[in-house]
Amino acid sequence: MKKILITGAAGFLGSHLCDRFIKEGYRVIGMDNLITGDLKNIEHLFKLKNFEFYHHDVSKFVSVPGKLDYILHFASPASPIDYLKIPIQTLKVGALGTHNLLGLAKSKNARILIASTSEIYGDPLVHPQTEEYYGNVNTIGPRGVYDEAKRFMESITMAYNRFHGLETRIVRIFNTYGPRMRLNDGRVIPAFIGQALRGEDLTVFGDGSQTRSFCYVDDQVEGIYRLLLSDYDMPVNIGNPHEITIRDFAEEIVKLTGTDQKVIYKPLPKDDPMQRQPDISKAKEILGWEPQVSREDGMKVTYEYFKSLPEDELYKKEHKDFTEYNRS
Ligand code: UDP
Repeated sequence: MKKILITGAAGFLGSHLCDRFIKEGYRVIGMDNLITGDLKNIEHLFKLKNFEFYHHDVSKFVSVPGKLDYILHFASPASPIDYLKIPIQTLKVGALGTHNLLGLAKSKNARILIASTSEIYGDPLVHPQTEEYYGNVNTIGPRGVYDEAKRFMESITMAYNRFHGLETRIVRIFNTYGPRMRLNDGRVIPAFIGQALRGEDLTVFGDGSQTRSFCYVDDQVEGIYRLLLSDYDMPVNIGNPHEITIRDFAEEIVKLTGTDQKVIYKPLPKDDPMQRQPDISKAKEILGWEPQVSREDGMKVTYEYFKSLPEDELYKKEHKDFTEYNRS
């Protein structure tokens, strides 16, 4: 039986990956320090004998007993609001955490796939973004802690690949959505749905002409699964190329939720990318992958998920004290 370590296992993508690898018959070790992850996302796995959970911060030395065939490094805060609250931990998990996991992969002779991001393209001047584009990134802006950690992550991963001959894979993940996103993490989909459910106006930042391309989580997981098992060790974009302006997306949410909420406009956050759309030619050619789930279908499932949460979740503010995480 193949054994896989998944970091960020209690997070949105991590938990879906745990489900997928359990389904494929793997023995899964999930690891998370639970700063932004939530055990609720994986509690259904606790009763399985092929699943084990380690509460650990991967920025510190990582140790796993026995053999290991694969590592998926998905631990990281992943929303612009999180980067502002936990900037130092965001840098550390992308940089020090990746270094620790590469070391573990080397010592176990395991193949490692690291979760990179469309953020490495910054506010892109090339559209759509191909893997060959080097990006337009502000090192010292509010998103710099995430973007630069992820860029370093790619560099050190390629260094381990070239210098140590380690088997590595790099996925560049574009905006992905679905059940288990955090309701209050500030990202646009939970933000809009939460606002609609509370009967509040939908807050579009800027004039809403900025674009995003939203990928449903099942499609994302399928792309990652295929990439891990492929022979290809250069970065691959995984995302849905169907692009929409945030203004039009807000209108879609009003229709989907059947509410009569107004759309209101707030200032655009600093360094908010104006356009984002993956060029997925590589994923198509190398992995035979392309998204299958339309935004209409994916958003219906996602809306049902948020609607099914206990009502007090809708009003819960995140009051965690992050001081310790930024300091330690
Ligand atoms: N956004 C918005 N209203 C919100 C939250 C986000 O208009 O309440 C915009 C945000 O400025 C960005 C887009 O939606 O242009 C996507 O934001 P998100 O934080 O989901 O992810 P990003 O792609 O920017 O990392």
